This record gives sequence, C-alpha cells and structure tokens, in this order.
Amino acid sequence: MATLVFLEDHEGELVRGSLGVLSKAAQLDDDVAAVVTGAGVRELAAQAGRYGAAKTFVADDPRLEAPLPQPRVDVLAGLVANKGFDTVLFGASVLSADVAAGLAARLRAGLNWDLVDLELRDGELVGRRPALQDSVYAEVGWKGEPRLALIRSGTFEPVESGGETEVEEVGVELEDFSTQAVMVERAHAESEGPSIEDAEVIVAGGRGLGEPEKFALLEDLANALGGAVAATRAVVDAGWYPYAAQVGQTGKTVSPKLYVACGISGAIQHKVGMQSSGTIVAINKDPNAPIFEYADVGVVGDLHEIVPKLTQLVRERG
Ligand SMILES: Cc1cc2nc3c(=O)[nH]c(=O)nc-3n(C[C@H](O)[C@H](O)[C@H](O)COP(=O)(O)OP(=O)(O)OC[C@H]3O[C@@H](n4cnc5c(N)ncnc54)[C@H](O)[C@@H]3O)c2cc1C
Repeated sequence: MATLVFLEDHEGELVRGSLGVLSKAAQLDDDVAAVVTGAGVRELAAQAGRYGAAKTFVADDPRLEAPLPQPRVDVLAGLVANKGFDTVLFGASVLSADVAAGLAARLRAGLNWDLVDLELRDGELVGRRPALQDSVYAEVGWKGEPRLALIRSGTFEPVESGGETEVEEVGVELEDFSTQAVMVERAHAESEGPSIEDAEVIVAGGRGLGEPEKFALLEDLANALGGAVAATRAVVDAGWYPYAAQVGQTGKTVSPKLYVACGISGAIQHKVGMQSSGTIVAINKDPNAPIFEYADVGVVGDLHEIVPKLTQLVRERG
C-alpha cells in the first residue's frame, strides 16, 4: 500500500479527525505519507510526524489560504500522479468531503464514504460502512486504484506515536478552473465553553424545546455542569441552533461521560452520534419515545419544568 492522508488544519493545529485517520493509516502502512495544504502551514509537518506520518508533503502557498477544495484537488492529483499513491484517505468534514469528491471526479477513482473502519485482509483494503440507517454494516472495496476513502468523523482516536517525519515541499500548480471560486467572507461563530467533541458533559436539545429561545434553558444547565450544548438535526434544519452543534449521522459523533437529551425522540440517526456516551439521561414527555429504549436514566415529563429545576439543583450542590 502507498497511502496518502489529507490533513486539515484549523487555527494552527491539525484537526483531530484528520489525525485520527492518520493514526489508523499508520497502523495499516508503516510508510504512510500525509499532506498539509494552506498558507503558513510548514510548521504543521512536525505534528503530522508525531501522529505517524513517515513523510509529509507541504503545499504552502498564499493561493491555498482560503479553505476551498479545487486548489487542493490540484495538489492531491499531482501527488497521486507523481508519487504513485494507490490510496488516499480523508477524515470527514465539509472541506475534506469536497476535496475527496473533487479528486474522485478528477482521477475517475472510486470513493467509499462514511466508513467507520478500515482493515487489510490478504493484502486487500476493506472498508466498513453503516447502511440502512446504521442498522447494518456493509463491507466495501474498490475496483481500481487509487482507492479513496472518507472516514466518518470521530471514528478513529488520534494516537501520538512520537515519530519524526521527512518533509517535502510541493510546488503548487493550479488549473485555471480551480481558481474561479473565491472566498468572499469568513466569520467565526462565537461560543463559550468546550466544543461538543471535547466536552465531558453534553446537554442536547430537540424539537421538544418548542422554540429556539428555549435553548437558553439548556445553556444554563450546560454552564452549571461545565458542559456544552448539542442539537438534533430537526432543530438545526429549522435554524434554531448552529450545524456545528448537530449530533448524529449527518452531524458529529460524540462520547461524553454524561449526555442529557431534552425533548429528543431518539431517532436512529441521532442515536448513532451519541450512543457511546457514558451515561445517557433522557427527558421526554412521551413515555414511549424511542430514546427511553437506550437511555440509562429516563425522566418522563415536561422539560420546561424539569430543566430549570435541574440547573438550580446543580448550582446549589456545585
Ligand atoms: C439521512 C438522514 C440523516 C439524518 N441525520 C440526523 C442527524 O445527524 N442527527 C439527528 O439528530 N437527526 C438526523 N436525522 C433526523 C432524524 O431522523 C430525526 O428526524 C430527528 O433526530 C428528530 O429530531 P428531534 O428528536 O429533535 O425531533 P422529534 O422527533 O420531533 O422529537 C421531539 C421529541 O420531543 C418530545 N417533547 C415534545 N415536547 C416536549 C416537552 N415539553 N418536554 C419534553 N419532551 C417533549 C416529544 O415527545 C418528541 O419525542 C436524519 C434523518 C435522515 C433521513
């Protein structure tokens, strides 16, 4: 196997999802390579080495400053053509999914997406992919090379192996059509406290809140517990809460010590994103809500009465 892992960065750090994929790739291929792309990203190569990259390609160019996919597709297509990689792996994110799709189209290569495991079986790479709303797993392969794979976020933990990496600078040559899209504006979502990926406690809200303003109740409880607020897709789609907080099949996978689900029915697509939480507490007024089938503690009642009381209790004891 000649494997290349696409590494994404944010605010001077390689993102956890990419590092998890790199760590997994290093288990499958001792000689795994990684690529970082951006402007002012040379320093990130050392981080890649610590998580298993034997070699790191650095494409450092002002034209790669904005997180746009097509210029990155040019860089990766060049590496596959010139260095003979037969496998390219990505950790799922908005940018990585676009780059992976663009690379598949450019190289006419097969892309297996939403994988939750990878293994080598008799020298063949085999992917594992949830199907039918995550109720079964399918094993998937590739008919040709290069093999492209997009791994579901949160699947693999980054493992620091402490190694050093060989660094190679890559000359950046962009196609005319790759520079047609420009970044008009970037904004930071203001948030306080831990992100849902890092939080040990998550208070999550669904349509049972009734209206977006009621997320304030959950924010109060999360603050009291030192946790973060998450949301279901139903409320994210309705514009009640930002996508960054969505847990589930098309959102993030989280595994806090405590997950408090408020007004959430517990659909399978939500469950897959939070089922590995330590203790799951569900507050729902419907005793037959599916979430009670997998909650450790179930409270049947109106969240608008229960959550403020819970917050008060936590504050009194805190
Ligand atoms: C391809 C696909 C991908 C999807 N991806 C995701 C995903 O990533 N994440 C995700 O969450 N969903 C996802 N979904 C949607 C999922 O199927 C559900 O529709 C969604 O999770 C439901 O959100 P909800 O629990 O907020 O709303 P509902 O299902 O409407 O549940 C609201 C719950 O609140 C309870 N309730 C109402 N009032 C109160 C009250 N006052 N006090 C207490 N409880 C109350 C109700 O009894 C009900 O159980 C996906 C669906 C598809 C098809």
